Amino acid sequence: MKINTTKNHEFLQFIEDWLAQLKTLRVAELAAFGDEIAIVSVDLLKGFCDFGPLSSPRVANIVVPTTALMTSLWQYGVRHILLSQDAHDANAVEFSAFPPHCIRGSAEAETVDAIRDLPFFNQITILEKNSIASDLNVQLSEWIHNHPKVKSYIVVGDCTDLCTYQLAMFLRASANEHQVERRVIVPADCVATYDLPLEVASAAKVMPHPGDLLHAVFLYHMALNGIEVVAGIHAK
Ligand SMILES: [Zn+2]
Repeated sequence: MKINTTKNHEFLQFIEDWLAQLKTLRVAELAAFGDEIAIVSVDLLKGFCDFGPLSSPRVANIVVPTTALMTSLWQYGVRHILLSQDAHDANAVEFSAFPPHCIRGSAEAETVDAIRDLPFFNQITILEKNSIASDLNVQLSEWIHNHPKVKSYIVVGDCTDLCTYQLAMFLRASANEHQVERRVIVPADCVATYDLPLEVASAAKVMPHPGDLLHAVFLYHMALNGIEVVAGIHAK
């Protein structure tokens, strides 16, 4: 297969323009539906933000806007906050694709300090997972089933093209499948992925991962599927 680089250049320009015009949602626009909203945050763990083989400064950068979003939504009465996060077995099958990370009980598998320091942290629900697909943890499906009033899911976290994409697509596709009324909203400023340039990857004999490109393409792909991708959800 040959990839037409000229045509794809135009497409990438389209995505860049599309990203630049994303709207910002106001918290007040959501607040009328306080108990109908859930925030699901994926993998804001020390092992993806602070240290370890999969930590990334790009991912660390979304911690501040994400805790700000949780705080302002909490002030507006949103009480459903879920953290879907890696807690891998020491011999996790996933480690054949990614280096060992976020093993259950390790410091890497701890939620980042900024979220742990939130005054309502003990009211946040933590769901453990052992793959990039949050929905394979049945606790998430049970939670959704047990909270039929929740009509809007705000998905944040990392990585845009991996766990975040899988989670947002699951929430969208499962609502579509079962004819359930549901908004799935992804604020782009609370989502990130890691960057591994070609030259670094080839020296390390691993797959490259251009962060900006994959972040943009996967946000586009979520929007293509009817997920509401917005620039951010801000208080003002
Ligand atoms: Zn993992």
